[in-house]
Amino acid sequence: MVTRAEVLALDQADQLAGFRDRFVLDDGLIYLDGNSLGALPKHTAARVADVVSREWGRDLITSWNRNDWIGMPTRIGDKIGRLIGAAPGQVVCADSTSINVFKLAAAALALRPGRRVVVSDRGNFPTDLYMIQGLAELTGGGVELRLVDETEVSAAITEEVACVMLTEVNYRTGWRHDMAAVTAATHAAGAISLWDLAHSAGAFPVALDAVGADLAVGCGYKYLNGGPGAPAFLYVAQRHQDSIRPPLSGWLGHDAPFAFDLGYRPAAGIQRNVCGTPPVLSMAALECGVDILLEADLDAIRAKSVALADLFHTLVEERLPGTFGIVSPRDAARRGSQVCLTHEAGYAIVQALIAARVIPDFRAPNILRFGLTPLYVRFGDVWDAVDRLVTIMETKTWQQPEFQVRAKVT
Ligand SMILES: *Cc1c(COP(=O)(O)O)cnc(C)c1O
Repeated sequence: MVTRAEVLALDQADQLAGFRDRFVLDDGLIYLDGNSLGALPKHTAARVADVVSREWGRDLITSWNRNDWIGMPTRIGDKIGRLIGAAPGQVVCADSTSINVFKLAAAALALRPGRRVVVSDRGNFPTDLYMIQGLAELTGGGVELRLVDETEVSAAITEEVACVMLTEVNYRTGWRHDMAAVTAATHAAGAISLWDLAHSAGAFPVALDAVGADLAVGCGYKYLNGGPGAPAFLYVAQRHQDSIRPPLSGWLGHDAPFAFDLGYRPAAGIQRNVCGTPPVLSMAALECGVDILLEADLDAIRAKSVALADLFHTLVEERLPGTFGIVSPRDAARRGSQVCLTHEAGYAIVQALIAARVIPDFRAPNILRFGLTPLYVRFGDVWDAVDRLVTIMETKTWQQPEFQVRAKVT
């Protein structure tokens, strides 16, 4: 049996331990949902207040130049690029993940004229699939979405396929694709890879350039700690940039937005993938979250995430044998940064945990999802979370009526 004292010793030796103090977190709260909404960095409030009162209030419209508001999409994009193995000039911060999926899936199809199949897997986050369904309708059937099981993807990549669109880490189970292998199989069939890094960026090192990825998108409010509804990002490998025809051809992706030409002419490079005016306040908040991650070593973040998940799995097996299914992979190479348990009363158990000051989330039909964000989750938090889960199961507090009521957001 692993003891609490042994676990607290791991926190003593943790080289990332100091980062927790950079976030606004109540000491008694165990926050295991940073994979859904990252915690608030302490310096974000002051930075956003400064952008509001000084840059907006005092400098007004001159801020577009004076405070480089206009450069935010590429400046923050390049910073995110450092977290995902992308050399400068290949990432922009823009729009939402859903919209970026639409933009880049349409671009991928245009890069492969004569092919109309988009392959994805049934474990993908539904919005990514919905966006392709919308694109299929818009093009009057010019796109076919082909869904397979996540272990069958490589076999489905045939010469008909234009784009292989996958989320690297399954949002419900934490299962992780082999990005290098799938990208190689995609290229062998002459197709374009489109990776969704919503559960990867900021969670562990990603090597987009090194694996030869073509296109990617990702989310600003999960592991990047950018705040609720933070802008997302997209990546286009250098070699494709001048061939991309943006389907959302807005003025800030124009070659000369302030020439106000009547005809659209895409900007050179990554900039053409920006559509409209950047949400400056949200981007200022996102930049604070990204800056903290850039101070940390992503390999250390990954090593701690693996250790936290291994500890979590071990404690659940030792202390709650047979009570929960464990669907997150035991093999760290096939796992993102979350632990996922199954139980038919999962929703009520999650509500009972929240009442006990442990915040995970629930994903239908029966998954309890615990996100592991190593900058602010401690080994002791994992021990205490499992301990409170043991109490909830022993005392059956999850059966209380108030824990059965479903809220809109789970
Ligand atoms: C969180 C998430 C999204 C969210 O998309 P929004 O447009 O920000 O709502 C999209 N795709 C995946 C895979 C996600 O995990």
